[in-house]
Amino acid sequence: MSSPAIEIKGLTKSYGNVHALNGVDIKINEGEFFGLLGPNGAGKTTLLKVLLGLLEPTSGLVQLNNIPISKVSRKSVASHIGYLAQGSPCHWPLTVEKVVELGYLSRGKARNNDTASKLSLSDQAINKLGLSSLRHRLVPTLSGGERQRVAIARALAQEAQYLLLDEPTAHLDLAYQIEVMDLVANIRIQSGITVLSAMHDLTLAAQYCDRVAILNEGTIHSIGTPWDVLTPDTIYETFGAHVTVLPHPDNGTPVIIPTRNTNLPPPGN
Ligand code: ADP
Repeated sequence: MSSPAIEIKGLTKSYGNVHALNGVDIKINEGEFFGLLGPNGAGKTTLLKVLLGLLEPTSGLVQLNNIPISKVSRKSVASHIGYLAQGSPCHWPLTVEKVVELGYLSRGKARNNDTASKLSLSDQAINKLGLSSLRHRLVPTLSGGERQRVAIARALAQEAQYLLLDEPTAHLDLAYQIEVMDLVANIRIQSGITVLSAMHDLTLAAQYCDRVAILNEGTIHSIGTPWDVLTPDTIYETFGAHVTVLPHPDNGTPVIIPTRNTNLPPPGN
């Protein structure tokens, strides 16, 4: 079996006396779509930031294709990883075209840096994400969904091998949530990119992720397919919420339905 694209072993990260991650082990296969779930404060963002080289782990090992990230320069890590930050990314007062080109340039000297390939890769990414009519718009003037599309186009122009997403659908309308997740899923199939996404919406995660892990208080509570992990017991133990889990009528993935605690009659009665 081939080695994992991302391997995290015994990862611990403390901020002073706050233990945000406590001995986390995860192996993610090449081309896999992996969802990182868990309640607020579980350590999801911290884990993504360690992978990006933005935070030093307190202890443990993180490897990309068998190479410890401690042995790779921050610039090199950044050039191989596309990142969509939480909330509305790309606040820079730059045009769509420029931001996507910066993705290409972030690969640095290691690649053929001529203008023709820059234009072609950036153009391809802009076209693929349906951004042609917005290419001269300043990114801060775009909607949240459009900005997410720019961030994905940037990662494509960068030819990233890994895509890390931190709650990519937070603050987006329902249609944009599906659009962003569909785009990531399609790009991952077309380019074989490995996707690790922190996600808030369990039902949405179950429709896109091959495997998911629930992180709780800095440790992995459970890991496996969405059906293995997203059980009412597990969700109660980690999120403290009562839910019912049913198969999606169209695609059979688990749908997580919150159950209210109150004994009041249903609305309208
Ligand atoms: P999540 O993304 O799952 O919501 P985070 O990784 O943001 O979780 O946070 C994990 C824990 O670490 C929380 O208790 C949070 O308050 C704490 N934390 C995060 N960043 C810092 C920081 N810069 N300084 C101190 N504590 C932090």
